[in-house]
Amino acid sequence: MEIYWETRIIRGFSDLEYRGNFRTMKIKSVRGTHDLLPEATQLWQEIEAAARHNFGLYGYAELRTPIFEETELFARSIGAATDIVQKEMYTFADSKGKTFSLRPEGTASVVRAFIEHGLHHDGGIHRLYYIGPMFRHERPQKGRYRQFHQIGVEVLGSDHPALEAEVIEMLHRFFEHLEVEGLELLVNSVGCTNCRPAYIQLLREQLNTQASDWCSQCRQRAETNPLRVLDCKTPDCQPLIEKLPTIEEHLCEECRRHFSRFRNYLDLQQVPYRVDPRLVRGLDYYVRTTFEMVSDRLGPTQNAVVGGGRYDGLVEILGGPATRGFGFALGIERLVTVMGERPNKSQSVAPDLFLGFLDDASFEECIQLASHLRGEGIHAYLDFQGRSLKAQMRLANRLGSRFTCVVGEEEMTSGRFPLKRMEDGHLVTVTREEISVQVKS
Ligand SMILES: [Zn+2]
Ligand SMILES: [Zn+2]
Repeated sequence: MEIYWETRIIRGFSDLEYRGNFRTMKIKSVRGTHDLLPEATQLWQEIEAAARHNFGLYGYAELRTPIFEETELFARSIGAATDIVQKEMYTFADSKGKTFSLRPEGTASVVRAFIEHGLHHDGGIHRLYYIGPMFRHERPQKGRYRQFHQIGVEVLGSDHPALEAEVIEMLHRFFEHLEVEGLELLVNSVGCTNCRPAYIQLLREQLNTQASDWCSQCRQRAETNPLRVLDCKTPDCQPLIEKLPTIEEHLCEECRRHFSRFRNYLDLQQVPYRVDPRLVRGLDYYVRTTFEMVSDRLGPTQNAVVGGGRYDGLVEILGGPATRGFGFALGIERLVTVMGERPNKSQSVAPDLFLGFLDDASFEECIQLASHLRGEGIHAYLDFQGRSLKAQMRLANRLGSRFTCVVGEEEMTSGRFPLKRMEDGHLVTVTREEISVQVKS
């Protein structure tokens, strides 16, 4: 595929002409994507480490799937008629005419892998998580990216409401670990294939009786997906939505019981929540428990950091055996926005020991010394820009090195090295072997 692309751009130019013509153009990152410079990456690593640690405590294991799949996978799982599949996927064909798409979300790939590798054969519960980029061709706006990143969890093989509450408690622990504050948990039940159709029919009737009062999108939703009317953000629709019947009043006995047990387990784990009867999912295979965690730091419309719920039909839709599923996806960019500016906790950039040298011979000694110390787990640093000793020491200060050691002819012959603690200027003379002990103490 790259070869096609390359020849299309370059065709007609010799290599030299090509470089000559385009040399002055600055190449920038693609619209809707962003770089993470080292300082920002530190926070991302912290977030990822917190996920790995806390999810691990609950028995979750990481799954890594490819970032592109056959388009058919998303058309079947997300729905061929959805905006995501119709307008937002990056889709391309290979030379044989097969169509692939960059993944717009993670669940479809996880379920595909679950089926493909026969994970269901043991009949147990599978606790999986993923971390990685997703791609959607949306109009770029604040907080929306075309390459965005998610941490997601899928637990397959059980419909126990306690498992749902456990997943949410796990999220709480994760956010606590990261000291994220001000998140509100919203929960709802979206019913099941037994009770939802009647509710949707009722919604549709109500929408049609006063059709002219609703926004044009809602009028359209009345036909295609009446449930989505409930989360319309148009101000004019708000008082109308308030008057609509809620799904809670129309849940079947089993759904009602499931929802009440789920909330009991949340109470048991002392996880605070609010029931939001307007919280819905657009896709048919979502059933029963649904939830979001929202922050007022994200503005009124796109305020969810996490969204998730139960999907009991998805594994079957993708050709696997009937399997219960529950999961969530968390937007890392949104989480970073909610976390705001943080003092830089990590000191990993500051060296433990700065090695100064006087001449070529001591430079070589320092190279060997640095190699030895790194083997001992010490962050050793030396200058490669030909600075004078004085300038080297200035650099050591600027980097915030904890110790310095200047190596010259005398140190090399005697095998004794002066180790200076920068904090208070305390100086000790030690052997080569003792350096790491001193620096670590
Ligand atoms: Zn039901
Ligand atoms: Zn509306």
